Amino acid sequence: MLSPSQAGFRRLLPLLRPHLRQLIAGLACMLLYVSSFLLLLNLAGELFPSLSSRDLPKVLLLIAQGVVIFAVQKLAQFGQDSLLAGPALQVSQKLRSDVFRRLQTVELGALEKLSAGDLTYRLTEDADRVSEVLYKSIHDTVPSALQLLAVLGYMLWLDWKLTASIVLLAPLIVWLVSLFGARVMAATERSQKKVSELAGLLGEAIEGLPLVRAFAAEPWLQDRFEREIDQHRQARHRTYNLVALQHPVVGMIEVVGLFSVLALAAWRIESGDLTIAGLSSYLTGLVVLIDPIAHVTNNFNEFQQGQASLKRLRQIEREPQEAADPADAIALGNLRGDLDLQGVCFGYDPAQPVLQDLNLEVKAGQVLALVGPSGAGKSTLFSLLLRFNTAQQGRILLDGNDLSALRARDLRRQVALVPQRTTVFSGSIAEAIRFGRRASDADVMEAARLANADEFIQSLPNGYETLLEERGSNVSGGQLQRIAIARAVLGNPALLLLDEATSALDAEAEAAVQLGLKQAMSGRTVLVIAHRLATVQEADQIVVLEKGTIVDRGSHDALMQRGGRYRELCERQFIRDLQNP
Ligand code: ADP
Repeated sequence: MLSPSQAGFRRLLPLLRPHLRQLIAGLACMLLYVSSFLLLLNLAGELFPSLSSRDLPKVLLLIAQGVVIFAVQKLAQFGQDSLLAGPALQVSQKLRSDVFRRLQTVELGALEKLSAGDLTYRLTEDADRVSEVLYKSIHDTVPSALQLLAVLGYMLWLDWKLTASIVLLAPLIVWLVSLFGARVMAATERSQKKVSELAGLLGEAIEGLPLVRAFAAEPWLQDRFEREIDQHRQARHRTYNLVALQHPVVGMIEVVGLFSVLALAAWRIESGDLTIAGLSSYLTGLVVLIDPIAHVTNNFNEFQQGQASLKRLRQIEREPQEAADPADAIALGNLRGDLDLQGVCFGYDPAQPVLQDLNLEVKAGQVLALVGPSGAGKSTLFSLLLRFNTAQQGRILLDGNDLSALRARDLRRQVALVPQRTTVFSGSIAEAIRFGRRASDADVMEAARLANADEFIQSLPNGYETLLEERGSNVSGGQLQRIAIARAVLGNPALLLLDEATSALDAEAEAAVQLGLKQAMSGRTVLVIAHRLATVQEADQIVVLEKGTIVDRGSHDALMQRGGRYRELCERQFIRDLQNP
C-alpha cells in the first residue's frame, strides 16, 4: 500500500507494475500507431507531385498503400486502447480498495467527525475521475505526445529552419498551458469540495426529511440547499471560464504559428530551399499536429482536475488510524470471561478525563449492570472494552490478558456488542447474522434460536434468505433487535456488551426480546447499560457511574436500602419498570 503522502499521479506508477506485460503489448501497438503517421506523411509528400504530373498508376498505388497503412493504424489503435484500458482501471480499483481499507481502520473518534456524504463522494466520483484521467493519460496523452514528437522530428528532418521557427513558440504554449493548468486544478479542488459539502448536506437531509416535514421546515431546507448548489455552480463556472479562456489564447498562438510557417515556406520555396513535395509533406505534418496538440492541452486540464480528486481521495488516508496491534500479540484460546479493570483512566482529550480510576471485577458468567445519567461514561467504557479507544492509565484484563496485548480482531471475536439501535446492512437475514464470519447454517440457526429469533425467521416466506431492506425497514423493531442479539452470540463470545434500548416496544415484542436476551446472556459475562428495572434486579452487581467515577455499587436490594444515588435514579425513573411505567 502507498503511504498517504504520496498523493501525485507519479506515485501511482508502481501500481502499474503487475500489469507490465499488458502495458508493453499496448505500448507496442502505440508505437506502431504513431509510426504509421510518418509513413502517411511520406505518402502525402509523394501524392501531390504525382497528382500534378497526372501519373495515374502511381497515384492509385499510393492510395492503395495509404489504405493498407490506415488499416494497420486503426488496428494498432484498437490494440492500444483496449490493452491499456485494463491496467488503468486496475490501478484505480486498487487505489479505491486501498483507501477503503484505510477508512475501515480510521480511529472511531475521527471517523465520527467525517461526513458520510463527503466520504461517499470521494470514494465514488473522485475515484472515478482519477480512473478516467489515468486511462486518458495512458491511452491518449502518451500516444498524442509521442505523435507530436515524431511528427515534429520528421518536420525538423524535412526543413529544420522552418521547424525551428515553430518550435520557438513551443515554450510559450507550454508556459501558458501550465499556467492555466495550475489554476484549473485549484478551481477544481474548490468545486469538488463544494460537491462534497452538497453530498454531506444531502445525506443529512435525506435522513432528516421526516423531521423536516414534521417541523414544516421545508422552506428552510430548500433555502440551504439552494445556497449550496449556487455556490457549487459558481465554483464550477470558474473552472469552465478558465478552460474557455485557455482555448482561444492557446488557439491564437497556434494560428500565429501556422501563418508564420506559411509565410516562411513561401519565402523558402521562392529561394529554392524547399520543394513542392517537401511542402506538401510539411503542411500535412502541420495538419497532423493540430489533433495531438489539442489532446495534450485538454488532457492536461483534465489531468489537473484528476490530481485535485486524487488529493482529496488520499486525504482520507491521513486520518488518524486505530492503534496498531502489538507486534508480539498473545494468541487467545477459549475464554472464560473474567473481567478485571484496574485503575482505568481515559479521556478523549487526555486533559479532560471521562473515566477516572475505574476499578471493577466481573467474574465469568456474571451480569454487571451499568447505570448512571447520560454522559457518565458508560458507552466510553464499552469503547475501551472493544479497544476502540485505549486507556491512558490502568489495565483492563480479560482472563488475565491485558487487552492492549491482544490483536484487536481476536479480542472482538470474544467481545460482542448488542447496540441500542440496531444497524443492519441490506442483504439476507442469514448474512446479517453471519456479518462476514464463517459459520455453518446450523450455527446461524442456533444463534437465532438463542436470540429467540428462529421462530419468526422460519415463518417468513423465504426464511433465513429473506432480504432485509436498508436499515431493516421490512421487519419490526423487536425482530430487528433479536437479529442483533443472534448476530452478537454467533461466535459464542465470552463477553457480551449490551446497550439496552430505551424506546419501549409493545408488551409482546418486549417479552420476546427479553427472552432472547436472557437466553443469549446465559453462560456469558455480561455488561449491560441498563434502563430496565428487571435487568438491574437480576444483575449480580450494579455499578452507578457518574462523571466517570463509580459512586455506588452493590445489588439492587442493598442499594435501595442504602438510599444513595441508585435509589434516586430509580425514583427519578432513570430505571423504569416497564410493566408499570
Ligand atoms: P454515556 O454512555 O454514559 O451517556 P458517554 O460515554 O457517551 O456517556 O460519554 C461520556 C463523555 O464523553 C461525555 O461527556 C461525552 O460528551 C464524551 N464523549 C463521548 N464520545 C466522545 C468522542 N468520540 N469524542 C469526544 N468526547 C466524547
